[in-house]
Amino acid sequence: MIFEKKCETCGEIIRVDYPDDTVRCLAEFGVPNPADMLRNCDGCLVKWEAKRREDYQRKQEMLIAQASGIPIERTQWDSEKGNNELLCFVKGYGDNSLFIADRYGEGKTWAVCHAASVLIFKNNGLVVKYWLVADLLATLSSLYGENMREAEKIVRELKECDLLILDDFGKEKITDRGGEALFRVLDSRYVSGKRTWITSNFNGNELSEKIGERGDAILRRLREKFFSWNHYKAGKLPEKRAPAKQEPREARKPYLETDYLENAPEEAGNTAEIDFEASAV
Ligand SMILES: [Zn+2]
Repeated sequence: MIFEKKCETCGEIIRVDYPDDTVRCLAEFGVPNPADMLRNCDGCLVKWEAKRREDYQRKQEMLIAQASGIPIERTQWDSEKGNNELLCFVKGYGDNSLFIADRYGEGKTWAVCHAASVLIFKNNGLVVKYWLVADLLATLSSLYGENMREAEKIVRELKECDLLILDDFGKEKITDRGGEALFRVLDSRYVSGKRTWITSNFNGNELSEKIGERGDAILRRLREKFFSWNHYKAGKLPEKRAPAKQEPREARKPYLETDYLENAPEEAGNTAEIDFEASAV
């Protein structure tokens, strides 16, 4: 038996064919027109479902952005505009620490932010922290002047999170108290083996001039565990990398030790310079 009803959303006529048995049964339960149980036509239902999904995704993205500091407009990927090769690199090697040096405007921020959002989606509970390095240094420097506890709270979060993203590294000279805190964070993550993704507009050699002796020393150590985007582009990245050997904590030299540079083992053809290109061989 055919029944009709207007869609409550668009007003289109919905026509439904019900078996006679069903119609009789529903009538006994006080439903003379079974079509009254429908509210929307199929077209409106599909739209409603799509909107519901979009709202849900949007809400999740906002939660991600709030918790991690990832700029919300960077969570969605546009394969027409984004650097897809870079995204492949970040997704493929992102279980490790990454160093992404490239010119300004290559979409480094977008690629790391989108890849990190996907990771958070997939791994419920993964703790990610994103910071623009200039903002982090300014925040830490001012907090150390007025609210030590808050500064140390941020430092602790940076040390403990599962993935730390430091965006636009080396833009400013890293010299003051905030810089020292940043180096402590990097040193701690190096020791604990937690991954850190660093983006920079400068390559290793330019960077070592920018970040000063102490920064240089710590980055020289970090590079052992970093996968380099430039290396990937050159096709030199190994398929799989053997896990780095973990030295016992006590055996390490603290990075603040001034004789670190003098005592660091020198590699052939690569003396006191950072060379991330050579780091992932
Ligand atoms: Zn409709």
